[in-house]
Amino acid sequence: MKSSRSEMIQSRADLTCARRVVVKIGSSLLADADEGICQDVIDRLVDDLAGLMTGGIDVVVVTSGAVALGRVDCDWLGRELSVHEKQAAAAIGQPKLMSAYAKAFARHDRSVAQMLLTKDDLRNRRRYLNASNTSETLFSVGAVPIVNENDTVVVSEIKFGDNDSLGALVSMVIDADLLVMLTDVEGLFDKNPCTHADAKRVGIVAHLDEEHVAMAGGASSSFGTGGMASKLSAARVATKSGVAAAIISGQKPGALRNLMSGGDEGTLFLCGVDRQTRRKHWITEVLHPAGEILVDAGAAKALLKQGGSLLPIGVVSVEGVFDKGDCVEIVGSDGVIARGLCNYTAEEMRLIMGHASGDIESILGFHDFTSVIHRDNLVLTSDV
Ligand code: GLU
Repeated sequence: MKSSRSEMIQSRADLTCARRVVVKIGSSLLADADEGICQDVIDRLVDDLAGLMTGGIDVVVVTSGAVALGRVDCDWLGRELSVHEKQAAAAIGQPKLMSAYAKAFARHDRSVAQMLLTKDDLRNRRRYLNASNTSETLFSVGAVPIVNENDTVVVSEIKFGDNDSLGALVSMVIDADLLVMLTDVEGLFDKNPCTHADAKRVGIVAHLDEEHVAMAGGASSSFGTGGMASKLSAARVATKSGVAAAIISGQKPGALRNLMSGGDEGTLFLCGVDRQTRRKHWITEVLHPAGEILVDAGAAKALLKQGGSLLPIGVVSVEGVFDKGDCVEIVGSDGVIARGLCNYTAEEMRLIMGHASGDIESILGFHDFTSVIHRDNLVLTSDV
């Protein structure tokens, strides 16, 4: 993966060096129950984005609003939609959304490019790389990737769920420095600002912890945003992989420019010092384990305490059907201790388990790897 990043963002001033940014724009900013699309808001936000691009920053937009616009079009307002109605609404709203962005960016002589993704796309290494390479090519021609979830084909188990988490994963795909979430509040507050006049905005979060999650008030309660909890969860995913995150107002003119020039705007989540590599992050955040490998106490100790790889001799049993390179869970006597990419298929694992690495060749007729899961492809549950 090409790296656009020179250094991790560790202060507001570092934002002036950001070279690649994902900007997530929420439905509440873009769609209006009476009018449908708010073209004036899109125009204003796009003017800011075009300004960043002129300054040499690559920009990807992650936008919501397809379902909301489809609702207005179908006159399906004020009620819960069924899954199929939501998917139909998204199919109707998505081209309207794209045409609004196309119109706004055309004023800056920029083309837009639609990228519709599902979680399944990013679980598959080849599709993940295709998405990454396509974005690189789009950057090289100065086009703006506009990403949304491919709502018409997803069901709950393969949905990102919300575009905040889609934004965090897209940040990994395009190797961004920063994920900016534009919303209808000015950042994270220490108390609900709607009910507490003395609520204070949290300017910088160096370590995102339970205290911040408590401030967000849980997923269901809202400060008029409904989604602070999902924004914090996206910020956690992003910062763990070395992408800083920010929550700022999308309603306040100039907020994005102020943030990017190092000003005291919104809430900035600094990159974690305990960050995982992109590969490890992909293993913990995106992949679905396809099987389980039960290990003995010696192997568990080697993994947990000695920073070792998993060798076939420590494997006691193998559950599931998986291929080489698939993600599996490693289970010790107290439960799941790690996740990793397995070098052998489930079938091969059943043949070599309990044997020394030196016997792999005589058992399988080939010897690709000494370890069954290499340390570089393994993430301890305690590190997540
Ligand atoms: N993909 C959905 C849409 O465009 C939005 C999901 C979300 O609200 O985060 O309508």
